Amino acid sequence: MSIFKIFFKKEKIRTRFAPSPTGPFHIGSVRTALFNFLFAKKFKGKFILRIEDTDLERSRPEYEKGIIESLKWLNIHWDEGPYRQSERLGTYAKYLKKLLDNGDAFYCFHSKKFLEEEAGLAHHCEFKKLPLEDLEKRLKKESAVIRFKTPPDLEIAFTDLIRGKIRFNSDALGGDFSLAKAESPDKFLPLYNFAVVIDDFEMGISHVIRGEDHISNTPKQILIQQALKLPMPKYAHLPLILGPDKSKLSKRHGAVSVDEYGEMGYLPAAMVNFIAFLGWNPGTDKEIFNLEELIKEFDLNNVQKGGAIFNVEKLDWFNGYYLKQLPLDELAKRAIPFLIKDGLIDSNFPAKSGPAPSWEYLKKILELERPRLKKLGGIGERISYFFKIPKYEPKLLIWRDMSFKDIIASLKASLVAIDQMSDADFNQKNLERILLKEAEKAKNKDKGRLLWPLRAALTGLEASPGPFEILEILGRKESIKRVETAIKKLA
Ligand code: GLU
Repeated sequence: MSIFKIFFKKEKIRTRFAPSPTGPFHIGSVRTALFNFLFAKKFKGKFILRIEDTDLERSRPEYEKGIIESLKWLNIHWDEGPYRQSERLGTYAKYLKKLLDNGDAFYCFHSKKFLEEEAGLAHHCEFKKLPLEDLEKRLKKESAVIRFKTPPDLEIAFTDLIRGKIRFNSDALGGDFSLAKAESPDKFLPLYNFAVVIDDFEMGISHVIRGEDHISNTPKQILIQQALKLPMPKYAHLPLILGPDKSKLSKRHGAVSVDEYGEMGYLPAAMVNFIAFLGWNPGTDKEIFNLEELIKEFDLNNVQKGGAIFNVEKLDWFNGYYLKQLPLDELAKRAIPFLIKDGLIDSNFPAKSGPAPSWEYLKKILELERPRLKKLGGIGERISYFFKIPKYEPKLLIWRDMSFKDIIASLKASLVAIDQMSDADFNQKNLERILLKEAEKAKNKDKGRLLWPLRAALTGLEASPGPFEILEILGRKESIKRVETAIKKLA
């Protein structure tokens, strides 16, 4: 191997995302995945997906599936994996044997409860002093926990790429911490701190980028590396994600799992852009970044130490932006499941025959609504009047001090104007010209006297786009019907 090759190999960037499939995919974990992905791609390295499913009671295949589906949905693609820790037990056993043989670890037969009650035992356990053979014999009859012999009063330090030098004293680690459960002489189930060290080494991980909550685990992992003479990866611990009240982001603040955001109708590109800014910024005013641009701009030096605030209004802003960028066909395709759910269109939309609304009709509606749209969830409520006759109280039709009589007269004036138009002329431009002329005749030239009752009659809503656009989309016949219905309501 040439010297260059060795150099290159040593410098090869490999990151990993190592979720535990024990719950819905949290926004904070998505951020960890994204930053690892961006960092690896930026340096033409590899991004690895590793499922840390050693907690048999809490790990579930459906959570793993959820993580994988969400990563794909977000376009965060991995180069290797998914590896599963549950499928690598043989590898861990090999290293555990080595630690036991070298006297860096021991079998402990105390129960967890006993250890909790006798806190001092975590430091002075009598099993630590017994010969390995004796303990191995006992293991044939009884299960044990393999614990690391934490050296006393040792300084453990590492340089975090985000927070600089971090130091610990081994005495603060709570004693001889657990590495694995030994069910029998040949059945070892590794625990987090141990498995992570072995895997990061075996998988050639160069950079461990993860949440700040793992800082306190790092010294334990370093001790295991040192005992096994493994190289230390570089560490970067990402700031906590906080709710608007500056406390750690949790369910109290609203949805925290990425699938919930998907269900609410946020676009993956908006999610990625928003999540990238949870602790990172490009150092410029630019806010809109697609994945390519993020890969180019991402830099661990621009990751902040302090907590990152999760602000849903900002997410809405990003999402509104990305919704505006979608080709109309694409927007319509994405809106359909929401409209089906809201009962506005059939599950077989767009049906070829029958009274079902057409694809073109849907597109016109979405084009009209889009400038104000923040997310697709709840869109049904805003545009239902295009699909069914709106229900509303007659008082909605009232503009300022108008009486019911005034409103009936106003609606009748609109009706006459509309009625005189041909279907072919019935477009926004003509409607605007004709109806505005009519509206100017109103008392005090107050156009609202004509336009408000008309718009309310068409939509049944307090707020909506303007009447001319709505009239055009609804069409002449349907518009006339709605104005007549309003007049009847008042009479
Ligand atoms: N399985 C750990 C978690 O989900 C990963 C920790 C790490 O990245 O080292 O928190």
